[in-house]
Amino acid sequence: MSGKTRRIGIYGGTFDPIHTGHMAAARGACQALGVDRLLLIPDGTPPHKELAEGSATPGDRLEMARIAADRLGAKCPVEVLDIEQSRAGKSYTCDTLRALRQRYPRDELWLLMGTDMFLTLHQWREPETICALAGICAFGRSAGDGKDTFAPQKRRLKERYGARVKIIGLPDLVEVSSTQLRAALAAGERPDALDESVYGYILRRRLYGTRADLTRLGWDDLRACSYSMIRAKRIPHVWGCEEEAVRLARRWGANPDDARAAAILHDCTKYLNLEEQLSLCEKYGILLDDMERVTLKLLHAKTGAAIAGEEYGMSEAICSAIYYHTTGRADMTQLEKILYIADYMEPSRDFDGVERLRELVYRDLDAAVRLGLEMTIEEMKGYGSPVHEKTLEALDFLRKEQKKNNG
Ligand code: ATP
Repeated sequence: MSGKTRRIGIYGGTFDPIHTGHMAAARGACQALGVDRLLLIPDGTPPHKELAEGSATPGDRLEMARIAADRLGAKCPVEVLDIEQSRAGKSYTCDTLRALRQRYPRDELWLLMGTDMFLTLHQWREPETICALAGICAFGRSAGDGKDTFAPQKRRLKERYGARVKIIGLPDLVEVSSTQLRAALAAGERPDALDESVYGYILRRRLYGTRADLTRLGWDDLRACSYSMIRAKRIPHVWGCEEEAVRLARRWGANPDDARAAAILHDCTKYLNLEEQLSLCEKYGILLDDMERVTLKLLHAKTGAAIAGEEYGMSEAICSAIYYHTTGRADMTQLEKILYIADYMEPSRDFDGVERLRELVYRDLDAAVRLGLEMTIEEMKGYGSPVHEKTLEALDFLRKEQKKNNG
């Protein structure tokens, strides 16, 4: 390990829910301080305020913070810690900082906070400990928070506790509070100041008085729900797959809405681990062969289909397209072929031969699926990985069809 002192940004809050104001503040502070790592810490029981009625549980607030951390676009690693939630009693920042000082004995700690928190800091428990253990980085929550807002408190903290205080301006200030968002959500609105995936999580968990019927969602809400289940880096693929699947459905006479729904949900369980996948298989009675039981890549198609049907009320045709989107099968439906090939060659995919597939698929769907299957089989052989029998059967079936058609 290098001996270099790192700067660690520590951003705590109730995050009930975490919103784009928090996210912009985190990004802005990381940039201004040049931090090497950001810690997001949702509190357990905040000492300074009663949690509002209808608040999310600590577990849900933690999960929303994890989703937001993944979407933050910070230039440094971001970690979400549950140290305040796992500690009994009220969440005091001085205790958290003591724990973090042990964890990072040589690093520079910086506590990030907005105007409201900064102006009351001298009333927190052990402000002298807080100021001794960390620098304070404060930022305005509204455009009206200027120098005059911060100066007296900065002076006081310096004089009383020898605090190191840095006041920064946020380049992307979002003037919003969680209180406003809870009210908007309860009134059935979709607030702009919520990240799409955080909003999807709220819908799925029916938080803050939202009462979404997951089986009757509009496209935007279905996307939000699906994206809330996957990592940010996969979203361009799912979006590309949706666009491609709809285009292909229009070209080949399949139902574009079915293609869209199948594509939006096809990877929704992609990030579950083996244990979680197997437990879903048990819950939904999904039968697995020996290879599927140990191959994560194959399991997500089965569990994704089950979630699409059971939670989002999707039709048999859509679920079946999701079920076979990784392996294919003999005698695939039009929709199954479309999802299979859209997943393979959507615009964000980049591999040798993808251009040929893109050209072929709008001329001859079967030929493109055949080529996709052949390429997959070759690739698996290259890795020395076994090929699922359904994939071999799919190719065999299409080759026989081709022979029949060629007379
Ligand atoms: P509530 O409305 O429930 O009181 P909140 O929106 O104030 O919530 P908190 O989770 O209490 O959010 O805030 C955590 C930290 O983020 C605090 O330091 C707060 O000052 C800061 N903060 C909250 N909203 C913003 C915002 N829009 N811009 C910048 N900082 C913010």
